[in-house]
Amino acid sequence: MRILVVEDEQKLAQTLKDGLQAEQHTVTLARTGEEGFYLVGTQSFDLMLLDVMLPGRSGIEILGTMRQHGFKTPVLMLTARDTVEDRVLGLDAGADDYLVKPFAFPELMARVRALSRRGTVNTTLPLRVADLEMDVVGRLAKRSGRSLDLTPREFDLLEYLVRHRGHVVSREMLAREVWKEPGRHTPLDNAIDVHVARLRGKVDENFEKKLVETVRGVGFVVREDHP
Ligand code: CA
Repeated sequence: MRILVVEDEQKLAQTLKDGLQAEQHTVTLARTGEEGFYLVGTQSFDLMLLDVMLPGRSGIEILGTMRQHGFKTPVLMLTARDTVEDRVLGLDAGADDYLVKPFAFPELMARVRALSRRGTVNTTLPLRVADLEMDVVGRLAKRSGRSLDLTPREFDLLEYLVRHRGHVVSREMLAREVWKEPGRHTPLDNAIDVHVARLRGKVDENFEKKLVETVRGVGFVVREDHP
């Protein structure tokens, strides 16, 4: 199976990866929930192991967002706290199973096998905002059925904005999650602004409804109805 492990404790993440690989699974690691969410949207996984306590947004928040966006990837939550509240929150958010740390590896494997027997659901749906449609597998973007000619970077940028539609995305977030270079948001480096400007030209120029907006001093947002 293709398994995504979202875990910020590096040692544990590596142990999980080694153990799952030894059982013939393909493993991808993510260290934050945002990164995990991005990967779930861009690649196909059969199972996700999701830590609850993560830097930034918690595993439960990420899971809730995933389910809202229609991602049906089975999720096994990992938590350090065994409280009824945590269990209920996780299951309410859409977790399929729950494991409390520290856990024995054979127990994890038993649960992974149980979840895999439920079968795989194809998790990749097109993303839509107004008449903008993105096929993240085929990497095609269209407005009103017309293809937009985007570079790979512009596609990634637009996808990130669309996944966060309605929420302002900061330059720091784009530097970290799209460029993978956290230093990019320094005032000396206007690459992000240049790319957004070019992207806006391609997405909005020939259409009456504008989707990409700059929020002064904060960042950028994609939304359908601008105030
Ligand atoms: Ca953690």
